[in-house]
Amino acid sequence: MNNHIRSFYRIRYQKRKAAGVCTSCGKEEARPGRVTCVACGIRATKNSTNRQRKLEPLQKALKICRYCDCREVMAGTRWCGYCQERRAEQTAAYRAARAKRGQCVDCKDAAVHGKTRCQRCLDRQIRAVHTYRDRKNCSLSAPGSGTSNPSTSAA
Ligand SMILES: [Zn+2]
Ligand SMILES: [Zn+2]
Ligand SMILES: [Zn+2]
Repeated sequence: MNNHIRSFYRIRYQKRKAAGVCTSCGKEEARPGRVTCVACGIRATKNSTNRQRKLEPLQKALKICRYCDCREVMAGTRWCGYCQERRAEQTAAYRAARAKRGQCVDCKDAAVHGKTRCQRCLDRQIRAVHTYRDRKNCSLSAPGSGTSNPSTSAA
């Protein structure tokens, strides 16, 4: 791309942005606080999901963090120590802020008094545990799960 074309795109982008029109398609109205319309936003998300899908095997093979793409992963995970710490901090801060406001940490509804979740999410959590147990039972009796090793549980 030569400079002329590049500046053409830049000017078009700025014009569209100033007009509150989607900078991607130039047809639809941009979403509030964003530079693209709903459809283009969805398309961009899909593209980034595709990108992630393409990158995944590479990240796995090279053992690099899926979040920052540059650091080595910690054993048994798919992310680096730095990203793990950062994400844990973010999640903790996010949850603490919600809990403070009396909101469910999962869905922002009003939390049950003395709990960090709303009734719906508490129920769902209980159900999830049940499902997990069921699945566990299933996999134990599933054919092809191979040679069960009783010494693992004994040790
Ligand atoms: Zn658009
Ligand atoms: Zn990382
Ligand atoms: Zn909830």
